[in-house]
Amino acid sequence: MKFDLLVIGSGPAGYAASIKARKAGLSVCLVEKALAGGVCLNRGCIPTKALLYSASLHRKAAEAAPFGVHGAVSFDCTEVQRRRREVVESIRANQIAFIEKSGVTLERGSARIESAGDDGKTISIAGDDGKRKTVRAERVLIATGTKPALIPVAGCDLDGVFTSDDLLGDNGRLFERCFPALTIIGGGVIGMEFASIYSDFGGKVTVIEALPRVLANMDREVSQIITMILKKRGVNIITNALVERFEKAEANWEGELSCLFRKNSDAPETPPQSVASNAALVAAGRKPETDGLFSPDFSGAIALTERGYIRVNEAGMTNVPGVYAAGDIAWGAAFGMIPGVQLAHTATAQAERIIDHIMDKTPAPLGAIPVCVYTTPEIACAGLSTDEAKERGVPVVVGKGVFGGNGRAVIEHQERSFVKLVFHAETKALVGAQIMCNHATDIIAWAAQCINAGITAEQIRNSVFAHPTYAETIAQAAEAI
Ligand code: NAD
Repeated sequence: MKFDLLVIGSGPAGYAASIKARKAGLSVCLVEKALAGGVCLNRGCIPTKALLYSASLHRKAAEAAPFGVHGAVSFDCTEVQRRRREVVESIRANQIAFIEKSGVTLERGSARIESAGDDGKTISIAGDDGKRKTVRAERVLIATGTKPALIPVAGCDLDGVFTSDDLLGDNGRLFERCFPALTIIGGGVIGMEFASIYSDFGGKVTVIEALPRVLANMDREVSQIITMILKKRGVNIITNALVERFEKAEANWEGELSCLFRKNSDAPETPPQSVASNAALVAAGRKPETDGLFSPDFSGAIALTERGYIRVNEAGMTNVPGVYAAGDIAWGAAFGMIPGVQLAHTATAQAERIIDHIMDKTPAPLGAIPVCVYTTPEIACAGLSTDEAKERGVPVVVGKGVFGGNGRAVIEHQERSFVKLVFHAETKALVGAQIMCNHATDIIAWAAQCINAGITAEQIRNSVFAHPTYAETIAQAAEAI
């Protein structure tokens, strides 16, 4: 049989593309070599957020006395992991049921593109028994995602140096080994979310970040405030510092692993500084997952970037006609994407637009992309920050709202947080928003829609916001300009 579309990888891109293509009437084969749901469901967004939820409950319960709630609080790592597994498994079961109900053919195995001519593509699928079967398809969508990248320093292979894949692994044993002290290399999104998890469970966390600030891709004030809040909770954040090597610490009362690093300001002749912990998490970025994806005959046919990502054009197609790529693995300005953005929701959005393109429909532009960090408080941004506006020469005015007088925030004892709305200086249309407070990751959907629709400060100010809600501070931010 020849399928209309063969999709490789069942993460947010592959899953969404398969369902949408099937609904559009195409015959679809979805190939997955590991667990259905990809990184997002099995080793990314969902398990991390499940752990973040348990951890924040622990901290809230431990800090509940001022709210009149008393009692000793403890946590059980095994039960935390059981809960994480239950969440992941229930969503996975749902997805598999939906894939099957939709009439998508789900093939278990490792797909390899053998050839890709104008008359169709040939893909072989190796099952667990090592046997290969051949499938033909009119088009192929590669949605194989990324995997954690290690850093090129000595000792990275030592036991106790982990990646997020290890800590989100199935039995949770490695997650537990990071207590009581964990060193995190990288103050990006993964680093900060894990810093939140371990510190909320009472762990002693050190973050080592190469750049001058954590969450360096986000608004400056976001970095400053999350640094301040985490430091107050006992997290040691060291910036402008590069890790030199890992060593097993000798007779160290605190833990088993030493992470040696050097601050930019350290004189070259001084020995590196060191932090001891039970384990280290390397959260210093991710790398493309293309292992075994191309047969020796086909290898080199698809254009890759220097770092091995698959180049795509504005419609998500590679240089080989009929072969597309979406999600983390794809690199290009498909549908207005910013190359290098690795988010589950952009993967889904890209993949769905590729199906529109295949079906000869005009895909909608992506618009403003929400970027969310699930720390406590949550951080969510969309559109331009003031720095980005300046870089692009967009004249802006900024309205800021703080939560000091917000009833809901006072009730919940919200830590220092803010809403920043960035408006075009002339039209007063919203072009960006940075929100830091409880529920920010939900509120940002509103901001992204306003940006896409060109809503102005006056229109926002004239909207009625429910009371008491965090969203009321949005009106305050619009009023401020
Ligand atoms: P990242 O690129 O966001 O952050 C990595 C950080 O590590 C950077 O700040 C970098 O300067 C630092 N770094 C690199 N090498 C270093 C070294 N040798 N020593 C010290 N610091 C070093 O990468 P990530 O946090 O691993 O996340 C990977 C991707 O996954 C990102 O694109 C992220 O957006 C995405 N992600 C998103 C979410 C979410 O949406 N909530 C959650 C997790 C991951």
